[in-house]
Amino acid sequence: MIPIAKPSLGEQEAVAAANAVRSGWVTQGPMVQRFEEAIAEYCQTKYAVAVSNCTTALHLACLVLDLGPGDEVICPSMSFIATANSIRYTGATVVFADVDPRTYNLDPASVEAAITPRTKAIMVVHQIGLPADMDRFLELGEKHGIKIFEDAACAIGSRYKGTPIGGHSEMACFSLHPRKVITTGEGGLITTNNSAYAQHLRLLRQHGMSVPDLKRHQSRQVITEQYEVLGYNYRMTDIQAAIGLEQLKKLDTIVARRQELAAAYSDALKSHPWLTPPMIPDYAKSTFQSYAVQLSANAPVSRDQLMQQLLDEQVATRRGIMLSHLEAPYQSPTAAYHLPQSELASAQSLLLPLFASMTDQDLNQVLTTIGQLT
Ligand SMILES: *Cc1c(COP(=O)(O)O)cnc(C)c1O
Repeated sequence: MIPIAKPSLGEQEAVAAANAVRSGWVTQGPMVQRFEEAIAEYCQTKYAVAVSNCTTALHLACLVLDLGPGDEVICPSMSFIATANSIRYTGATVVFADVDPRTYNLDPASVEAAITPRTKAIMVVHQIGLPADMDRFLELGEKHGIKIFEDAACAIGSRYKGTPIGGHSEMACFSLHPRKVITTGEGGLITTNNSAYAQHLRLLRQHGMSVPDLKRHQSRQVITEQYEVLGYNYRMTDIQAAIGLEQLKKLDTIVARRQELAAAYSDALKSHPWLTPPMIPDYAKSTFQSYAVQLSANAPVSRDQLMQQLLDEQVATRRGIMLSHLEAPYQSPTAAYHLPQSELASAQSLLLPLFASMTDQDLNQVLTTIGQLT
């Protein structure tokens, strides 16, 4: 059976985690600080803040941008539901815009049409690792006085116009869940070039504590902390950070292999009669967190039939990217959504197996199986 994905953890990560436990640093400590420095260097940003997962990263980013009741925030419906949920946690209103079905990323024209006097921010998603056209959204932000920030959950290691994702907007939030390109079990990161944001994020992730516990433990003087704001426990542990440092060393190799596999898929499928490979614009270098193909209208089978046929032949696939607006939290008697491109692209697409340890033999088996079905 060829699985849809496999985490990239190895022995080095296990050793790093064991060492972190042995050193006695299990809560947020010196390894977290080292990991944050390494991520900031990799992403070419001034700051990185490590947290418990990407959903908490997005929630904190929304809070730092002062989003709340009465504010509207534009994001795609076609995304993992945490994108929209993180906005809702603040009491702000989620406004869904449509996507370009060729890239699965927000369509700038649909975003501009959704702007109202209440719009305070746009959360741009780099869907399954493919960078969105940031300059278009930054222009919109400037024109309308709106803050731009990024759900970069799948985009650690992606590049936009040659620069790593992380420093293009107010803040970018990354995920280190096992399904993503690199992992710490669970984990999240926020990168920014704004020192006030970084400070505020660090305050909020640890209960609003004026003096971080690491500083108190290291101090030769008695320090009493204050709790300055309503904070959260969104910390990353040292064990996770130790694993993250090992994973980061492998990131470029992992991304290179994923790009190689994706290129082989695209090359083999470019002349397929009814499957369309993803479009990769010139400005984007993707991590290929997932590899999505779309069935055209002339396909002899439905998407779900194709998925079942592939599963019968030992090839695991997943449906295309979900639509948040169809799920219960976004249903209401007054909710009216017009997202035709998202609905079409989601219904007609599926994700093929792709992971760094996938062999050429695995890839050929997937392609042969697809070939035999057509
Ligand atoms: C995975 C993912 C998230 C959530 O990340 P967690 O670390 O699991 O909280 C958010 N947004 C997108 C687009 C994702 O793919």
